[in-house]
Amino acid sequence: MSGINKVFKFGGASVKDAAAVRNLAYIVSSRVDENILLVVSAMGKTTNLLEKILAEYRRCDGAPGPDVLRPLVDYHQGIMSGLFPDLFHPVYEAVSRLVDELRSKLEDREPDYDRQYDQTVCYGELISTTIVSAYLESRGIPSVWLDARKYVVTDRVFRAAGVDWDETARRIKPLNAAYKPGGVFVVQGFIGGTADGIDSTTLGREGSDYTAAIFANCLDAGEVTIWKDVSGLLNADPKRFTDTVKIPRISYSEAIELAFYGATIIHPKTIKPLQNKNIRLKVQSFLDPSSDPTVIDGSEDARSFSREAPVPSYIVKDRQVLVSISPRDYSFMNEHNLQIVFATCDELHIHANMMQTSALMLSICFDYDEAKLKGLMSRLSERFSVKYNIGLQLFTVRHYRSEGPTPTEEEFLRRKNIIVKQGSRSTLQYVLEPLLI
Ligand code: ASP
Ligand code: MG
Repeated sequence: MSGINKVFKFGGASVKDAAAVRNLAYIVSSRVDENILLVVSAMGKTTNLLEKILAEYRRCDGAPGPDVLRPLVDYHQGIMSGLFPDLFHPVYEAVSRLVDELRSKLEDREPDYDRQYDQTVCYGELISTTIVSAYLESRGIPSVWLDARKYVVTDRVFRAAGVDWDETARRIKPLNAAYKPGGVFVVQGFIGGTADGIDSTTLGREGSDYTAAIFANCLDAGEVTIWKDVSGLLNADPKRFTDTVKIPRISYSEAIELAFYGATIIHPKTIKPLQNKNIRLKVQSFLDPSSDPTVIDGSEDARSFSREAPVPSYIVKDRQVLVSISPRDYSFMNEHNLQIVFATCDELHIHANMMQTSALMLSICFDYDEAKLKGLMSRLSERFSVKYNIGLQLFTVRHYRSEGPTPTEEEFLRRKNIIVKQGSRSTLQYVLEPLLI
C-alpha cells in the first residue's frame, strides 16, 4: 500500500490538554501502519479565545494592554510543559515564534474585520499542529507538519472561504507520492489560503471536518475517521436528551439530512466530497477507541440495514424566528409572490429551516439574525404584511413513529406551545414556543 490511506480528524476537545494529546498519540501509534494524515483543530476552546483577543485588539486600535495574549500563551505553555519536560525542546521556540507572528498580525490596523479574523484566528490551528507534530516525533512517530494554507486553496471570502477544487487537488495529490510509510502527515483543519500565498482564509467555524474531507477526496483515501468525545453518531444530543442511542450505520444522504435539520456532530459540508469518491466516514470515540464507530457510507439508506424501522432522531435548533408573510392586497400567495419572497431571502442569505404555505400566507422559520430580519421586513413591507415571532425552537423528529409520539417527543413538547407542525413520510417538524411556566 502506498500513499495516504486514512485521514483522521481530531477536534479541539481531543487535544484540549496534555493527557488528551498523549491519548491522540496512543491512538495514532497503534494505527501507524494505516498510512495516516492527521487533521487537527485548535486546542480546546482556543478559537473562541482568539475571537475575544481579536475583538480586544480592534477595540483598542491595535494596542491593548500587555496581558491580552497571556491566557492563550499560558494555556499552550501548560500543555507543552506536560508533554515536553525538556525546556530546551525546540517546540517552545517554534510556538513562541508563532505567537510573535500572531501578535504582529493583531497589531495591524486592518480595516476589514473578516480579513483580519482569518489572518489571526488561524494561529489556533498553526500552534496546535506544531505541538502535536512535535509530540508524535518525540514518541518515535516520524511526523511531517504541513501548512494547510499552501494546500487548501480558496477564494477571498474571508471567514467562509470557498475551495478552489482544481488547484487544491493539484497541490494535494503529490502528497501521496511524498508520504513515507511508518510516519504521519499533520495538517491544520479549518484554514486555507489564497492562491497567491498572501492571505490566510478560514472555512467557517467547526470547519475542520470539512478539511478532512477535502484531503481525503484529493488523496483518494480509503476512509476518514472523526475522533469525538461521544461513541459515534447519536440519535439526539446527549446534553439535551437522556436515553440517547448510537446509530451504528447510516447512508451519506441520511447524514446530510440530519445535518440539514441541525444535528451538529458533523460539519454539513463534509459529506459531499466523501460521497463523490465513495470514501467511508467513521465517527469514533477517542475516549474508548476500541469501541465500534458509526459508519457513514454509500449504502442505500438506513432501512436497508435491518428489518426494523430506524430509530427516531431528535434534533433541536434554538433561537429561531418564524416570519409570516401575506400579500397586502389579499391576492393569493401564488408562485409570483413566492418568487419575490424567495429572491429576497436569497439576496439576504436567509436560509429557511422550515416553510409552510397556505392560500394567503407563507411562513418561514430561520436562525434569528437581527439584521437579516430587519432587511427582510423593510424589503417586503410595501407589498406584503410581515409579522414575526422570535425566541422559538425548531424541533425535528426524523423517522418518527406513525403510531404517535414517543415518550422522548412527548417530554420535549411539554410546556411548549406548538406554533407550526408539519410532517412528511419520514420527518416531523415542530416550531415551538417555550412557555415560561
Ligand atoms: N477551531 C475551529 C473552530 O473551533 C475549527 C474546528 O474546530 O473545526 O471553529
Ligand atoms: Mg474547534
